[in-house]
Amino acid sequence: MIKTYMRMISSFLVCCLLLVLLAPCESRAEEAERVSGVGYYFDTVVTITLYGTDEKELSSLLEDIWVECARYEHLLSKTIPGSDVSRLNEAHGEAIRVDPETWDILRRAKDISASSGHAFSVTIAPVTELWDFTGGTQRMPDDDELAAALPLVDDEALELLGDSMVRLPDGMKVDLGGIAKGYIADRVADLCRDQVIGATLNFGGNVYAVGEKPGSAPFRVGIRDPQGGENSSIAVVSVKDISVVTSGIYERFFVKDGVSYHHILDPESGISAFTDLAGATIICTSSMDADAMATACIVMGREKALAYLQENGMDGLLIDRDNEIYTTPGFEDTFALQLLFAAP
Ligand code: ADP
Ligand code: MG
Repeated sequence: MIKTYMRMISSFLVCCLLLVLLAPCESRAEEAERVSGVGYYFDTVVTITLYGTDEKELSSLLEDIWVECARYEHLLSKTIPGSDVSRLNEAHGEAIRVDPETWDILRRAKDISASSGHAFSVTIAPVTELWDFTGGTQRMPDDDELAAALPLVDDEALELLGDSMVRLPDGMKVDLGGIAKGYIADRVADLCRDQVIGATLNFGGNVYAVGEKPGSAPFRVGIRDPQGGENSSIAVVSVKDISVVTSGIYERFFVKDGVSYHHILDPESGISAFTDLAGATIICTSSMDADAMATACIVMGREKALAYLQENGMDGLLIDRDNEIYTTPGFEDTFALQLLFAAP
């Protein structure tokens, strides 16, 4: 009897202690303001959610974020006349000066191109221009067009000179579609960091979880089910102050004569990468690295991609075409991986 009383009293004390410990977190979570918005930049729906203590400050930060998105779009888009990328693509072999930020992105793109054996190639533009994955025409190149375009895909020929100067041999062009959103996510995360408790920045497949959720909780980020719809998830990771980037063959594709063609192209063949992977997710504090490397992983296929990620100390989750999941060592524990479906 006494023992039972003792147990009851000690349970009561533990409960009180827990309440005392949890109370500040809960009240902080309740007090937190939340401001969110949706924009359309870089051909992608951008969703921003900010958590902080002052609603007015968060709203003003959101406005600053949209201004930054528009600025980066005008710098990095290859379809906006006068952007750094447009000027470079139209320079006909002349060296031009670009914004130092554009130069930095090209520098990193070249590094990742080299480390990935050119599975990621920022000079893929002459080939991507022969395809239409978004306009509804289902255009694809014929053999002659590919033969003319493929010699122009060569990241080693992109010259990065001093003083933010860049030179591309005549006829070559760059396409930052596989890396720019990551870079922008990094910069927007920097902009937010001191002004929020936490934030989620979602640039299509690039998510940056800035800080933490009010109440010191991690953000739970869903990883898209390649065989499900747009809002489906096959798994969830719990993350703080890090980016979760996914590339997938289901993002932009068309089916012609029974064959599915997706928008991640093999720089060697100029055709949609013939890969055993349906999706590649990389978690890294650099969203730019994760973006380019996720694209490279799709081109490489499962075996090479897993080796590549491990060699470069990256955390990744790969999903093959049968929805089987493969992860780099330690991934499950580090990000409290929760699988939502058993693989078939
Ligand atoms: P998304 O931008 O749709 O999230 P990715 O980050 O994988 O997906 O980038 C795909 C885009 O990158 C394509 O739309 C194209 O502009 C460009 N791209 C396609 N293949 C490659 C490649 N092998 N290397 C570099 N960029 C590529
Ligand atoms: Mg990418």
